[in-house]
Amino acid sequence: MAKSLDLNYLPDKLKQKIKANLPVAERLTLASVKLKGDDYSSKMYTLQQAKLSQDLGSGVDYRPILLNENASLVEVLTEIEKLNKDRTITGIVFNKPFPKAWPDEEIFSAICPDKDIEGMNPINLGKLFLGKPVFIPPTVASVLEFIDYSKIELYGRRVTIVGASNIIGKPLSLLLADKFASVSITHIGTFEAGDLEAYVKEADLVISAAGVAGLIKADWIKKGAVVIDVGINQRDGKTVGDVEITDSLTKKVSFISPVPGGVGKLTTMFLFHNLLTAYRVQKK
Ligand code: NAD
Repeated sequence: MAKSLDLNYLPDKLKQKIKANLPVAERLTLASVKLKGDDYSSKMYTLQQAKLSQDLGSGVDYRPILLNENASLVEVLTEIEKLNKDRTITGIVFNKPFPKAWPDEEIFSAICPDKDIEGMNPINLGKLFLGKPVFIPPTVASVLEFIDYSKIELYGRRVTIVGASNIIGKPLSLLLADKFASVSITHIGTFEAGDLEAYVKEADLVISAAGVAGLIKADWIKKGAVVIDVGINQRDGKTVGDVEITDSLTKKVSFISPVPGGVGKLTTMFLFHNLLTAYRVQKK
């Protein structure tokens, strides 16, 4: 039977930790850049950021910055440069999606590494590659926290990650390999080759971040496995993950982090955790 998860335990614990470590006489400021408009995921993420800033009290300022969809890349890079130079800004988050005219690598490379609280600047990704991360991308940090909570021993265990994006699957695979897990990183190519089921079936730990509702079938999961669902999908007006949740699945796994309520709740907390790290790095 799955170890039960109090969905508020980890987020509340981290929030208290951040609160306790905020500087007394200074304010941290989060600049949150987003496109004007109604994209559901960026709207939800920025609402959570604003709410958490409020919950953290007077120690944190939230500064939303709205950009026009038709802004040129040069205009966006100029805006980033302004935020980099602004000494009142502690950290910068650039909420996806971006228009195609703003390539991810141009945006993330332009953000000052010391203010890059999503950990996506190539300098920060390079430190992560070398096993010495300063800013772990918040979703990745959330998954690691759930792994820790599940108490699964990683050494020599088989891990299947579904989804190989720069922001989740790839950095996560490196950090888990550093803990001597045997990591398989799967993606659309694995799916189209008809091999996804086999990779999931052999895994002691399954982490899915594909963004495809119901992609991972309950009967693919090995008895006693740990399952961490990262996917966020809308189906019939409801938010669901990538993993098909059934009674038999919850009975046979040793731990499951579901959607909604699992990793998603923690991600915003880790963004603010990284904001605190940015403050410390800039003080050095
Ligand atoms: P992405 O589109 O950049 O990457 C998706 C990855 O999944 C790719 O590697 C792709 O090859 C793979 N994939 C797509 N279809 C597949 C299939 N049928 N079988 C196997 N692999 C498949 O997406 P992303 O930004 O990495 O986000 C992934 C998911 O995680 C989305 O649902 C997103 O909303 C969610 N997300 C959650 C959080 C959180 O905090 N919980 C944060 C960010 C993103």
